[in-house]
Amino acid sequence: MDDSIKLLDETLEYINHEVIKDTIYINVKSSKEVAYCPDCNTSSQRIHSHYQRSFQDLPISGKKSIVNLNNRKFFCNNKDCNRRTFSEKFDFIGDKAKKTKRLEAEIINLSKNMRSISASKLLRENIATVGKSTVCNILKKRNTNT
Ligand SMILES: [Zn+2]
Repeated sequence: MDDSIKLLDETLEYINHEVIKDTIYINVKSSKEVAYCPDCNTSSQRIHSHYQRSFQDLPISGKKSIVNLNNRKFFCNNKDCNRRTFSEKFDFIGDKAKKTKRLEAEIINLSKNMRSISASKLLRENIATVGKSTVCNILKKRNTNT
């Protein structure tokens, strides 16, 4: 479990997990000491607050997985910056995304040669809870990126 989390980001620390039916809920926190303001790139170690962020990740041992991250907000130390606080960011997931990039890649892989309705059925049974429109959106996003 810890390994799978570390593959997302080395600074994530596994806390514990719970299995409910076909889903593993994994609680993790970040151990990064410094974060950088997205606007001015100034480093900060001053934590403003914590909040829970949850997202879907690749299945583990045949179970869907949902990661609950204890995400942090930092103060920006730069007096000239318009931003007072900012959320900690990670490379493995988009800012507002509900799925990790590696899960999206897996969804694309499985869906590209199928109709989205069959893809979402297959994904729901084996990978993650995704609707037909989510599959369409992810495929669309990929097509505009390439
Ligand atoms: Zn700033």
